[in-house]
Amino acid sequence: MASNKEIDKKQEDLLQGIENFNRIVLENSPDCIKLIDAEGKIQYMNTNGMCIMELDDFGQIRNKPWVELWGEENSHLVKEAIDKALHGETAQFQALCPTAKGTPKWWDVMVSPLFQSDSKIVNNIISVSRDITKQKEILSLLEYRKALLEAHNESSLDGILLVDARGKILSYNHKFIEIWKIPQHILDAKDDEAALSFATTQLVSPSQFIEKVKYLYDHPTETSTDTLEFKDGKIVERHGYPVMASNGLYYAWSWTFKDITQQKLAENKLRQSEKNLRKTTEHFQIATTAAEVGTWSLDLSSQALEWSGLHKRMWGYDENRSDLLYEDWYKVILSEDKEAAFAEVEKALTTKTLYQATYRIRRVSDGEERWIRSSGQYFYNAAGEAVTLTGVSIDITQEKKAGIALIESEKRFRLLADSMPQHVWTADAKGNLNYFNKSVFDYSGLSIEQILKEGWLQIVHPDDREENIRQWMASIQSGKDFLFEHRFKRNDGEYRWQLSRAVPQKDADGNITMWVGSSTEIQKIKEEEKRKDDFLKMVSHELKTPVTSIKGYVQFLLTILNEKKDPSFSFLQAPLQRIESQVGRLGRLISEMLDLSRLDTDKLALQKEIFCINDLVADTVQDIGFTNSSHDITIQNNINASVNADKNRIGQVIINLVTNAIKYSPDKNNINISINSSGNKNASISIKDYGIGIDKEHQLKIFERFYRAGWQNEQTYAGFGIGLYIASEIIKRHGGAISVESEKDKGSTFIFTLPITK
Ligand code: ADP
Repeated sequence: MASNKEIDKKQEDLLQGIENFNRIVLENSPDCIKLIDAEGKIQYMNTNGMCIMELDDFGQIRNKPWVELWGEENSHLVKEAIDKALHGETAQFQALCPTAKGTPKWWDVMVSPLFQSDSKIVNNIISVSRDITKQKEILSLLEYRKALLEAHNESSLDGILLVDARGKILSYNHKFIEIWKIPQHILDAKDDEAALSFATTQLVSPSQFIEKVKYLYDHPTETSTDTLEFKDGKIVERHGYPVMASNGLYYAWSWTFKDITQQKLAENKLRQSEKNLRKTTEHFQIATTAAEVGTWSLDLSSQALEWSGLHKRMWGYDENRSDLLYEDWYKVILSEDKEAAFAEVEKALTTKTLYQATYRIRRVSDGEERWIRSSGQYFYNAAGEAVTLTGVSIDITQEKKAGIALIESEKRFRLLADSMPQHVWTADAKGNLNYFNKSVFDYSGLSIEQILKEGWLQIVHPDDREENIRQWMASIQSGKDFLFEHRFKRNDGEYRWQLSRAVPQKDADGNITMWVGSSTEIQKIKEEEKRKDDFLKMVSHELKTPVTSIKGYVQFLLTILNEKKDPSFSFLQAPLQRIESQVGRLGRLISEMLDLSRLDTDKLALQKEIFCINDLVADTVQDIGFTNSSHDITIQNNINASVNADKNRIGQVIINLVTNAIKYSPDKNNINISINSSGNKNASISIKDYGIGIDKEHQLKIFERFYRAGWQNEQTYAGFGIGLYIASEIIKRHGGAISVESEKDKGSTFIFTLPITK
């Protein structure tokens, strides 16, 4: 049996043991445990506390107010806790406070009162501070991640929906609501069933959608991507994948919804435009082939050439070749053209302009030399670097040959024209002279620059210019040949007569493209003519007196013969009448000759008076009738007109036209004269016969002097070819006009007009 002493000893040991145990636990507690007295000063700190507070010596803080360890910013928390504990309550706070060595740490502090044994008086406080820095870090990291995730979700352009393994909604973003338009109350209630059935109402094929969802929930290892078609036309791409833990545990389903309506529309558009492009390309190919244009594209980095079939054929390559390179283009070019062709490629690159080159190639297939014209353009990438050179080529051999032939023929023409003594010139359709042969420059002593600058008219005699321009412009307007006599100034200042003639050149449609003209010197002919005229004038003057005298004597003899009525002299009657008639003819001829010279020297004086043209026609026809009974002459007076004219001269015109009508219609006996008005201001007198008529080619020329149509008839129809010339000059001098309408073997109508006097 143990004695009481022994028992006491055991109890004492036990208590000692418990106290040691407590101390050990206290000292090694992971928290920092402090004993603070009622004045708030530190009286004890456990060993581990010293360690986590990074304190080397407890002496540093013994008897120091606890609040001082916390820094100014936490002092209110600490004071409050001490106060609470001193009032017998437990307090707790969390604060950031550095250790003795300045390491920042978060503390979770529990402050409890220590009561005096068996009393409610608090004599000490115990504080247990736990280092929660790690926890705090983890928490803030978690919050950060959560914030990141939310931001990511919200900033996503796709709708995001997260549901748990049983399909319960966990989270979603705004885009999800926007796409599905699910009412907020369903989302707030996190009512998955309602959300799902609302979603299906919007789809074109809801059953398919539900089946897919169910299938995926049953097969959590699969992912899916499918396209949902909404009734409002929206197209959404849905992507679903399971969220699995690293241990293979199936957590949730993540769905993303991407609105691809625009993308689909763009794709459709692209497909359509590709289709259109294909069509356009086809058309382009047809067009280029039809136009015999070869297309090409050079890839600048690989030097690969993409040529159309026609282009390959142009170069004489097999149409199926697809391995052509830049070199295959270049090597075929004739060596003398190579450098220039390449220079153009370089120039287009440096100046960023179109590439254009004309060069010759030797066709690979048959070695034939061909002329090619290529043009193209560089294409640049976004960085501004040239990527391809693309363009077209055409075979211009024919054109070139034609061009060369044209140059040759032009050369020949110039040579020919320059070797001619005549002046040769051309004018454009508007009548502007643009070419002169050498003879023009030699003759005038002017240079091409001088002629072009001051005009060709400078060489035309001033007196001839006005009429020259008038007639030239009339030809340009009517398109009829130009024929004109005028004087050109020679380099020594002398004016010499020229006969100029120009004919229009027409294109296939009959439009005038140019005029080709020539001027031939007729100075000698003119001089001859003048000499002839002078001679005729002189002869007619010389003849006039003896002829008048003969006429007088013949008439005197006839008068005596008629008075005496002696039968022994009656045999003289016929010869004398014959002489009278022949002398009359001779007299008329001499008068005409004299008229001619008067006209040439402009000395045909007109004795004007006002008279009725109808009366003059009637009187003249009556006079003619006395000596001419072969023809029946009718007069139709459609107007009665007075004219201011030289009655004798106009009478001379009427006699000439009527006697011609009689002379040139020997087999017909009708002549119709009519007097009409012509444009109100003129009287027009027409003399119509049904005789031999006049060929078209002679019609204009018969008004020229000494011109007679048809040489073969010269014997049949006596005449000199002067009458019509004088008639036309007389009419012109009266401000009228004379013309003829005629058909061979059908007859002629001569018409002249005279201005009517009011
Ligand atoms: P000629 O003295 O020759 O008749 P004209 O000057 O009067 O001279 O006429 C010129 C020419 O015009 C004639 O030679 C003739 O060929 C032609 N001619 C004139 N009048 C007529 C007519 N009425 N019918 C046919 N030919 C005519």
